[in-house]
Amino acid sequence: MPRRFFWNGFIAAAFASLCIASNIYGQNSAGPQPVPLPPAVPAPVDAPYAGTISLSVDLTNVNAPILNVHETIPVRSGEITLLYPQWLPGAHSPSNRVANLAGLVVKANGKSIPWVRDRVNMWAFHIDVPKGTTALELNFQYLAPIKPQQGRISNRFADLTWNSVLLYPAGYFARRIQFAPELRLPEGWKFASSLDTKAQNGNLIQFEDTSLNTLIDSPVYAGVNYKRVDLSPGPDNPVYLDLFADQPEQLEITREELQYHKNLVIQVQKLFHSRHYDHYDFLFSLSDSVGGKGLEHHQSSEDGTAANYFTDWAAGVADRDLLPHEYTHSWNGKFRRPADLWTPNFNVPMQNDLLWVYEGLTQYYGDVLTARSGLRTPEQARDDIAQVAASYETSPGRTWRSLADTTNQPLLSSHSGVPESWPSWQRSSDYYSESDLVWLDADTKIRELSNSQKSLDDFARLFFGIDNGSYITVTYTFEDLVKALNTVQPYDWAEFFRALVYQVNSQVPENGITRGGYRLVYNDSEPDWMKHMDKSRGTSFATSLGFTVKGEGDDGGGSITDVVWDGPTFRAGMTPDMQLQAVNDQAFGISTLRQAILAAERSNTPIKLLLKRGKEFITLNVDYHAGLRYPHLERVESTTDRLDAILAAAD
Ligand SMILES: [Zn+2]
Repeated sequence: MPRRFFWNGFIAAAFASLCIASNIYGQNSAGPQPVPLPPAVPAPVDAPYAGTISLSVDLTNVNAPILNVHETIPVRSGEITLLYPQWLPGAHSPSNRVANLAGLVVKANGKSIPWVRDRVNMWAFHIDVPKGTTALELNFQYLAPIKPQQGRISNRFADLTWNSVLLYPAGYFARRIQFAPELRLPEGWKFASSLDTKAQNGNLIQFEDTSLNTLIDSPVYAGVNYKRVDLSPGPDNPVYLDLFADQPEQLEITREELQYHKNLVIQVQKLFHSRHYDHYDFLFSLSDSVGGKGLEHHQSSEDGTAANYFTDWAAGVADRDLLPHEYTHSWNGKFRRPADLWTPNFNVPMQNDLLWVYEGLTQYYGDVLTARSGLRTPEQARDDIAQVAASYETSPGRTWRSLADTTNQPLLSSHSGVPESWPSWQRSSDYYSESDLVWLDADTKIRELSNSQKSLDDFARLFFGIDNGSYITVTYTFEDLVKALNTVQPYDWAEFFRALVYQVNSQVPENGITRGGYRLVYNDSEPDWMKHMDKSRGTSFATSLGFTVKGEGDDGGGSITDVVWDGPTFRAGMTPDMQLQAVNDQAFGISTLRQAILAAERSNTPIKLLLKRGKEFITLNVDYHAGLRYPHLERVESTTDRLDAILAAAD
């Protein structure tokens, strides 16, 4: 936390001056000495944990929502350390909320025994197991966030992540600890998971025994309104949409929508030529009461969008890459994983430096597959690329911070706990979208050098299409990546990525657009799909006046949620906490603002904005005359249309 660092700096300064003072008296060796750290938590070893841990989770109190947990852990007498998972795969950070664990009581032979939390590691609990004890009985609660948007548990739906509801013994690889999990649901609720069911007795579900590794990788969705949709292209590749909605009618899918999702499975198969699951389940919440989600797992994914995903198809173009992205992760991220992102258990720190491959290449393949399956039209897919490139043309953060450094963002965010005030300058998780441009650059480069004989599809087959049917993770390094790319198409790939990823590079990586046969242009025409978009997340004027505003102004003004660093309104004095009240002396509304920008294009008069910050009113005169500047890709005739080839469905 920044404030803590300031405070430490202040102490250091004060201490330095004290040292000078004590030197006068010849006592420079006096003063406190550090207290030794407590004994470390046992490091995990690749050996089996003796016995199977029984885990029983009661999810019936969804109204509060409080989850009651009972756990039986086979033990021997002596010291044991139990861990609450800290580092969650896919979150890439130590973000599991241990503070939400409460009511922990540990019993041995029917009697309560003490536990002591580690003084340094808040996720570790030390217990001295009495002689003659063969099992510990644990009871505790997981207090899910009260607001369903934050915790994703409401009185109609629950996203149960096992990492929230278990403690496990330190000292063993997660794949060597066996669990027997069971779950009690509210009466009448349905459920879906990639876990196999051993038995179901009313609302009590017993799952087959599984390793801790697979358990944490296999969340359960449960709820009132459920529908399972078969996307399998054949019996050898079972894939399902497991839909949970606020209302039953939101589960209705048109034939066309169903076909796009079936196409996705087919196109993914044509890309990777392998799979690493018995059956794959898209666990998918369609809800306006719980928040959205996208989290990858080996044999499933936790997905969540607004309730109208199927019922207002035109409104959801921006979210259409969600399922392609998470599904791609079954290959890149789960089956194959950067070596330093693989950890033996959930309390060993991860290292994120290859997130530009783990997330960035997944983002690229995900976007390509979104177009190839028909979930986005080719034009919508091109608009998406134009938007990404335009956002970097207007964000100066790239002038001081490399793309590689943004892979530290999950750690920086989990330390600060608050979103960045100036993301266009500080940068954010850019290893997703900026890497999209880097991988487009690489794909078009391979196509250019090989005279369209090779592409990043060949790399997908070579790198991910191995060990068909195997679940065993195969890790990769930067060197492995470069070597595989060189097998597809010889080139100095190490230098290619050094320049684009590891060096500070103020040039936006747009070579892929040019080599793809297009150029980035800006004009006043708003893409059709954008007109249908749900505006509750805000309306962006980032490429024009340089800010994003949320709300239409009926309730006292639109909230400014982001101001582009060094953009026109930034220079005029706008900050992200302001409310936009009026535009050119007219009450603020999105259409009023849009009209004002168009009018200013034909005049020299500045745009007058009335803003409110706290009790203060501020008038800004913004001398801006360049129009709405919606980004688009424009075809450059007489060049090879490689981008069209990339976005076209594979036969
Ligand atoms: Zn991802």
